[in-house]
Amino acid sequence: MEADDQQVCFIITVPPEQLRKEKDKARELRKSQWWKRQTAKGICHYCRRRFPPAELTMDHMVPLIRGGKSVKGNTVPACRDCNSKKKYLLPLEWDQYLQSAAKEPNTGMDDPVQSPEGE
Ligand SMILES: [Zn+2]
Repeated sequence: MEADDQQVCFIITVPPEQLRKEKDKARELRKSQWWKRQTAKGICHYCRRRFPPAELTMDHMVPLIRGGKSVKGNTVPACRDCNSKKKYLLPLEWDQYLQSAAKEPNTGMDDPVQSPEGE
């Protein structure tokens, strides 16, 4: 509400209170059965490698800070590697990372179910 969010408007496009609300929602979503099912698959959405469910973190495909929501269609399980890379890489570098990650032959246990249930 205050004019002081001007100084950060080049990165932050949503008001801090909305951000907090979405983070709360993310926390709730993380406790849900739905999320447990996502992590139980043990597959990182981005690199498609397998991880113990405890090592998968919740990633927002559209970052909250860009107006993304904590909803099922926007949250995916991601390994720590991908999660931190996504934060620090430029969109273009991230694309390249995804392409190379997807090409890596993995365990061969690829799960064909990859489209998020549209809701
Ligand atoms: Zn990954």
